[in-house]
Amino acid sequence: MTAPANTEKVRRKPLVLGNWKMNGDVATAEQLLSGLLHGERELPALLAGVEAGVCPPFPYIGLAAARLAASQFGWGAQNVAHFDNGAYTGEVSATMLRDLACTWVLIGHSERRAYFGETDAQLSTKVEFAHRAGLVPVVCVGESLAEREASKTESVLAAQINGLCTALASTNERFVIAYEPVWAIGTGLTASPEQAQQVHAFIRSRLVAGSVPGAAGARIIYGGSVKPSNAQALFGQPDVDGGLIGGASLVAADFLSICRAAALRSIR
Ligand code: PEP
Repeated sequence: MTAPANTEKVRRKPLVLGNWKMNGDVATAEQLLSGLLHGERELPALLAGVEAGVCPPFPYIGLAAARLAASQFGWGAQNVAHFDNGAYTGEVSATMLRDLACTWVLIGHSERRAYFGETDAQLSTKVEFAHRAGLVPVVCVGESLAEREASKTESVLAAQINGLCTALASTNERFVIAYEPVWAIGTGLTASPEQAQQVHAFIRSRLVAGSVPGAAGARIIYGGSVKPSNAQALFGQPDVDGGLIGGASLVAADFLSICRAAALRSIR
């Protein structure tokens, strides 16, 4: 890895998002949301300097919106259609997500790429629709274990980022990148803070090379087995601007503790 560290003094507000994936039911969603609200009540300064939110499955977004409306937590979706409204059975459009007052939408999660065959062209269209609807696209990129072992991490990420530059450039600087090494998602394996930093700096350099406005100020968050025990070290890196949290976001206390670790970054 040859990417330079981020030396620019740009202040980026840390962002922590919970990706609930296809887990839970109404009862567990209620429980999780009330756990987050309880944590916020107990420690009102918890989210000072941090942006945090949850991305529940589609059927529970309305519930999250109702419960979190008066809180400092936001909410978003895990996916969005690459079509506008119309005859696309089973799909959910960006304007529908806007109607639910979503702030963020995850785009191109590795599970979407692997199980649903999402292509770079589709992802670019999703970014554009999301932006047009007023949502912040959180675009996920990352290499597989085989690619890392074959020393292809940089080339894979460069190709993923290059394919998205035009769409990202159209977002008026309102986008987030989530670096999620596929080998670290749900496996308990985590990139070391140094590995994460190297890749985040590399991603930022590719955004700059691709003339994406706002590259220096863009938040690049890390995802892949983030836990309370490793969050602070990861978020201590200069280009790791928060986290996309899967498993640990299903336990309110763990998610809150990860938010607290991100808050420490903001007062560094
Ligand atoms: C994810 O799927 O976005 C993720 C980061 O999962 P986990 O934290 O469980 O590895």
